[in-house]
This record gives sequence, C-alpha cells and structure tokens, in this order.
Amino acid sequence: MEACFICKKHRDAAAQSDVIYEDDYVRASLMTARAEERLAYLGYAVVETKRHAPGLGDLNAEEARAVGETMNRVSAALKETQSAEHVYAFVQGDGVPHFHIHLVPRYAGTPPEYRHPMNLVHWPDAKRGGHEALQGIREALQARLHGS
Ligand SMILES: [Zn+2]
Repeated sequence: MEACFICKKHRDAAAQSDVIYEDDYVRASLMTARAEERLAYLGYAVVETKRHAPGLGDLNAEEARAVGETMNRVSAALKETQSAEHVYAFVQGDGVPHFHIHLVPRYAGTPPEYRHPMNLVHWPDAKRGGHEALQGIREALQARLHGS
C-alpha cells in the first residue's frame, strides 16, 4: 500500500497529463477539480519535490533551488499567459508528508474579501473550468516554461 498520495500520483501514468514542468528535482502541475467541486479554479498550480521530503527544512540544497526557481518561473508564466495580476504561495503540508507548495493566481476583479490564498477558491465568481479549459492553460504554461 502507498501511504503518500503524492508519491502514488508520481507513479500514476494518468496523473502525468496535469504536469506543466519537471526537472530532476521537482514537478509542477495544475490542480484539477477537487472531488466536491465540479470545476477547478483555473491556473491553481502546485510544485512538488520528486523525492519524499516531509516539508520546509527537509529539502536539500538542489531541491530548495529547484523549488524556488520553478515557483518563480511558473508564477511569471501565470502572469504572462493567463493575465494573473498576483500569485499567492503557501506551504501547508501537514496532511501529507511530501513537500509541495501551492501557487494560486489572483485575477483582476477579485473582491477584497477573497484576497487570500485559501479564500480565492471560495469566490463564487472565480475563474473556473473543466478539462478543456485546463488543457488550454496547461499548453500555454508548458510552452512558456519550456520556451525560455
Ligand atoms: Zn511522498
């Protein structure tokens, strides 16, 4: 049995379709819809280490550099290709012992009360989409991330 869902996801071929960037140390992917939601908050990305490391303070120097560089590049790509006006980042990670940082784009018109990385997804009028919308975003991000 696989205890860590991130390790399991990295071995699951079907989950590869959400990957927007990867190198020797990290993998960045788009968050798809959670089970209780029909549509995903568009552009919500996560950067994970490939190695099983519980959280901040547990990365080696190469992983820390790769995480920092990747989150900056993914954020720039979200601004350039999706017109995100800001990108929030947070590490929670107390539910799964595998390092991952959330990157949550904020788009123009977001009301002040939802301007928080964990509140954005609760805005009823947030940009949401299904498989097709996510595929378009993934392709734009991939092109930007691999083209520079
Ligand atoms: Zn793991």
